[in-house]
Amino acid sequence: MKKIVILGAGFAGLHIFYKLRHLIGKKIEITVIDKRSHSLLKPSLPEVAFEGAPLSHSLVELEHTIASKGATFLQSEVIEINAKANELRLKSGVIISYDYLFVTLGAIKNYDAIKGYKEHGYSVCDDKEAQKLWEKVKSFEGGKIVTGASKSTWGTRVDAPPLLAPCEGPIGEIMFMFDYFLTKEKGLQRSKDFKIDVFTPGEIFFEDVGDTPREVVGKHMQRKELTLHKSKVLKEITKSSIKFEDGTEMPCDLAIIIPPYSAPKVLQESTIGDEKGFIPTDKEMRHLDYKNIFSAGDITALSQPKLGHIAIIQGAIAASTLMKELGEDIKIPPHDLEVFCIMNMGGHEATLIVSDNLYGGKVDKASYSPISKMMKWGFDNYLYYNKGHMPPDFALDMTDKLVKLF
Ligand SMILES: Cc1cc2nc3c(=O)[nH]c(=O)nc-3n(C[C@H](O)[C@H](O)[C@H](O)COP(=O)(O)OP(=O)(O)OC[C@H]3O[C@@H](n4cnc5c(N)ncnc54)[C@H](O)[C@@H]3O)c2cc1C
Repeated sequence: MKKIVILGAGFAGLHIFYKLRHLIGKKIEITVIDKRSHSLLKPSLPEVAFEGAPLSHSLVELEHTIASKGATFLQSEVIEINAKANELRLKSGVIISYDYLFVTLGAIKNYDAIKGYKEHGYSVCDDKEAQKLWEKVKSFEGGKIVTGASKSTWGTRVDAPPLLAPCEGPIGEIMFMFDYFLTKEKGLQRSKDFKIDVFTPGEIFFEDVGDTPREVVGKHMQRKELTLHKSKVLKEITKSSIKFEDGTEMPCDLAIIIPPYSAPKVLQESTIGDEKGFIPTDKEMRHLDYKNIFSAGDITALSQPKLGHIAIIQGAIAASTLMKELGEDIKIPPHDLEVFCIMNMGGHEATLIVSDNLYGGKVDKASYSPISKMMKWGFDNYLYYNKGHMPPDFALDMTDKLVKLF
């Protein structure tokens, strides 16, 4: 029986777990380790921050979910990975050995990298921040709002698109959902009562897709009087302004930002990360130096942008690569990445975006309609009620094909 350890039970880790579970007790035993007791479904966090949705709908309990499938869950932080000895050390002091390791630790949202964030900044990237933001949003009576993503930096061992911002989809949700809340729920008026400015570190906002989604988003930004500022790298947040690397400053009563992404400390200090701590893999998601280590999701150097959809694609590849190695008759899916996300815009509004332009493909679509909103509800609820289990492959394939067709 081979000992499999999955480090991190987010989108990628859970997907790998569900893909491998039929082999538990036959060929493998699985231990899943996460510092959290509940996996966080981050795509629902903007609803927590701007609609007051209950946080419980963004959480998947882990211990029972994993144990009920015949595997072991350990809630602890991993503090050391000794890849040469095939061992991990947990904060609890326990040493765990493995035959195969899946590293699916996601990326850290590095709030501390932004001066003044602790005192004056807001975000939607985790449960604590999303709930804190909802408290602020509820009582916001108008003023100047500035939102945007910070610049992140990446390693160089693998060839991946060097995006300045790891994922600007949440910025789209922040600007549209907050505008909806202020105009429709609070009855405030744009320009007179509030103003939303949006910044991006790149020369292009939404640099991970092509012209069609950008035009659709741009049209709605114009309609809602949202002003875009390009090539602005966030430096500092003060009580009344937001400052950029180029020396410019914007007045700001409420700053809502996506901080820079970085690798968890345990990987920055290990031998398995690249110069920034992200995991370098080949396109079958196998580590470039350690053949019994696989990785998927935000922590891989190959995943650009950092998206749940990409974590799922890579998780399926990583699980298949191991299954093949264990003698299963299985085809490893190709590492064909695409951006696929549904941007909640408040109320019944949403835009579905599908694009593979970043990877040289020709698909580049955006659909603004209530059907997109229904798809988001359907998908988020499916994930929640099925304990982080993705819809079956045939349903995902069908949705993908239908979307591309229309
Ligand atoms: C606000 C927001 C909205 C988003 N919306 C969308 C969307 O609509 N569509 C989409 O496709 N993507 C979306 N994303 C991106 C998506 O959430 C991520 O790409 C996805 O969560 C990545 O999955 P992952 O498994 O790689 O990492 P994660 O989901 O971050 O999981 C990593 C896990 O590892 C654990 N961990 C980390 N370090 C340690 C350690 N040292 N020891 C033990 N455990 C540890 C963490 O607790 C966590 O459970 C959104 C992201 C944000 C922030």
